[in-house]
Amino acid sequence: MQFIDTHTHLYLEDFDHDRHEMINRAMDRGITRFLLPNIDQISVEPLVNLCKNYPANCFPMLGLHPTSVKEDWQTQLSYLKNQLDNHPERYIAIGEIGLDFYWDMSYAKQQFEALRMQFDWAKEIYKPVAIHTREAFQEMLSEIEKAQNGKLKGVLHCFTGTLEEAKKAIDLGFYLGIGGVITYKKSKLPEIVKHLPIERLILETDAPFLPPVPYRGKRNESAYLFETAVKLAAILEIELDKLAKITTQNANELFNLPTK
Ligand SMILES: [Zn+2]
Repeated sequence: MQFIDTHTHLYLEDFDHDRHEMINRAMDRGITRFLLPNIDQISVEPLVNLCKNYPANCFPMLGLHPTSVKEDWQTQLSYLKNQLDNHPERYIAIGEIGLDFYWDMSYAKQQFEALRMQFDWAKEIYKPVAIHTREAFQEMLSEIEKAQNGKLKGVLHCFTGTLEEAKKAIDLGFYLGIGGVITYKKSKLPEIVKHLPIERLILETDAPFLPPVPYRGKRNESAYLFETAVKLAAILEIELDKLAKITTQNANELFNLPTK
């Protein structure tokens, strides 16, 4: 059985003391590929270095996270664009990018601008986008709709919206990233995913954040993707190995990963 963690921040300092062991724990449970969304200018180097150490397993994305859109956002974007132009083959996706109005609204306008610019990058080079949305779902759907010219594809990472929103995103050509939230007692996701096409679901941890049950309150890591997978298979009433196969194929397709 093989799984892909489609959204995990294994390059962060949370993993500095046990990164290698942590990756091995994930591999022991069949999680063999790790897709790494970028955050800002500073995170590019540790992210890229990690991918160089695990070229068959770790795959880099490049983008500016919406909560990192601050007064220097234009400098940050031009640094990232430069990276992209210098290494067009290196990055599997533009991410993570998006809108986050939960923490701070003061750069809302700049968040929209940064998002639109990065949508353009993705379309220019035919790469998918990994999208982060918090307290801005309707705005995001309308941005995707405006940007969609047939070339935009991607994932709404850590999806927690309504059934209607899920269907709209799927209609717009997107996949939904299912993470640890689905294991939470109060989550409405279990009822929603039952009504969605499994061909549009991919698995993620968002490690070190949002650990699934029974690891809540602890540091999340990619090995815990397994708990989310078990839960999703039970909800969809399919065998775990079938879920592994389909979600792995979905992720390979969306991110155009090398076949091996
Ligand atoms: Zn993330």
